Amino acid sequence: VGGRVVRVLPEEAAINKVFDYLVPHDFPGADLVRVGTEVRIELHGRRTGGWIIAADVPSPPGIELRSIAKVRGYGPPAEIVELAMWTAWRWGGRASQVLRFCNPPLAIRHLPSPGTINTSSSESSDSLSRQLRKALTKVDSECRDNQAKVIVIRTPPAIDRTPVILETIAYGGASGALIITPSIGLAENLTRRLRRLGLPVALLPQDWAAAAAGSRVVIGARAAVFAPIQHPGIVMVLDEHDEALQDERTPTWHARDVAIERARRLNVPCVLTSAHPTPEALVDSTVVIALDRLAERAAWPIIDIIDRSKEEPGRHRLLSPRLTNTLRNDERVLCILNRTGRAKLIACASCSEVARCERCDAAVQQPDESAELVCARCDFRRPVVCPKCGGGRMKNLRVGTARAREELEALALRPAGEITANQTDEEIHAAMSCGVIVGTEALLHRVDRASTVIFLDADADLLAPRFRAAEQSMAMFSRAARLLNARTEAPSRLIIQTRQPSHPALAAIALADPARLAEYDLDLRTNIGNGPTLGTASISGFAAPAWIERLSEDPTVQIGGTAATGFLVRAATHDALSEALARVDTNRPPGRVRIEVDPLRI
Ligand SMILES: [Zn+2]
Ligand SMILES: [Zn+2]
Repeated sequence: VGGRVVRVLPEEAAINKVFDYLVPHDFPGADLVRVGTEVRIELHGRRTGGWIIAADVPSPPGIELRSIAKVRGYGPPAEIVELAMWTAWRWGGRASQVLRFCNPPLAIRHLPSPGTINTSSSESSDSLSRQLRKALTKVDSECRDNQAKVIVIRTPPAIDRTPVILETIAYGGASGALIITPSIGLAENLTRRLRRLGLPVALLPQDWAAAAAGSRVVIGARAAVFAPIQHPGIVMVLDEHDEALQDERTPTWHARDVAIERARRLNVPCVLTSAHPTPEALVDSTVVIALDRLAERAAWPIIDIIDRSKEEPGRHRLLSPRLTNTLRNDERVLCILNRTGRAKLIACASCSEVARCERCDAAVQQPDESAELVCARCDFRRPVVCPKCGGGRMKNLRVGTARAREELEALALRPAGEITANQTDEEIHAAMSCGVIVGTEALLHRVDRASTVIFLDADADLLAPRFRAAEQSMAMFSRAARLLNARTEAPSRLIIQTRQPSHPALAAIALADPARLAEYDLDLRTNIGNGPTLGTASISGFAAPAWIERLSEDPTVQIGGTAATGFLVRAATHDALSEALARVDTNRPPGRVRIEVDPLRI
């Protein structure tokens, strides 16, 4: 044969088969042929893209292979092709669905020369970076090869993370460091800061070629976890709790978990930061680093819990009368009121105590005035009796969300703006110039500072019947805390209105104590069958019943839910779940199906 035989995986996920092609010796771009290279091929009479997943495979005797159509250019290195295959398997998808995140944004046929990193260790005496330095030495000496070396750092909102980032880069040395952020904005920001310090930084996706050339600090949002830098000396994920790190499309891979696996395969440490680490990060952690309790508390803003349970029942004002002056006088007040995904709350008709699940603290419902209260999160049932006063009648607690802006404007005695979906730039600009701004939690992503943030109805979020309700509420509060910390001239406040100040998650939040919250969260999720080490997938779509029928024959998984509510599949480990899904996929039932592994919003 006058050339090399390569095995190609086509980019169309539905095909899910590999095909052998010939690359003639004199073919343009033949020098770029290796595992990961992007090529074009003829398949079933038309051209399609694909990746070389094996090079120099033995040519099958007696078959004349077709030549590839084109070498497009550099693709992901072999280690990333393997990581993409693992990612597809782990989240119940197909390799081509992940490999498309590994491609350069434009065809690349030449790489620049590698960067040069000044490897002198950082001189910072900051407490967290000192602890990080020790932890890195510890995991190096104590961990076995191929064991994940995960260091979790609790970074409260007011802390400058630059010292721990520089410490991480110093450890990576000449091999470079890979840093993943939840947003492109944060990646750009960090890139600017590090470049000012003279560090060679490749920002993904645009600097893909520089990242592939190596010896750089490589920074990018979610998909940068597949950056082409070969063998980085360390991997870091900032704000590992941020839901933007998980892809909403299937396969629903999570950049934190891919980062941990990538680092494990390279036998290098993986550093995760968060103001309030998730149970997922904590169960994977080798070491957890935090400031002492006083210093950590000081790096959160003042947190005011406004207890509304004593207020006159039956009147559903949005704002506690105690906050009127705040609304009128503070410089820039953000009022957060989520409108979707809220819990419907009921309370005792005599004492107004919010009715909660005895087992998991979520809001309960009373279907059709029945004699039972039912938990929508864990399905626990109990008689209709108020645990506080023994009352046997419940009432609905309503919070008016429809005319929130008008109501707050009337109270504030000054213009109030509202941020909603589908506004024009002018409308947004006008709303943003108001001293009082109302919006859903999305508002916290649109402004960069505030003097006061009020969560008008924290209960609706905290008691929502989702496994991660407490964690998701904490993520809202910590984002708000960052906005407050962006201004230092005046004391700023995070205000949480609630009717159940004794809820354990809220108690932990009031103390700005992430360790306490994590402990509560881990216990609770383990109790209700959603522990972080379990494999969980929701399955929906036309072919879901057929998938469920096949999975129900599998002794390694358990099935809950219905076609109407969505099916939930569980297994003892992530790997067991992935294996079970892969077994069905090899002889896949026809029709569309959506498989969400590690679903965030159940
Ligand atoms: Zn009562
Ligand atoms: Zn419950």
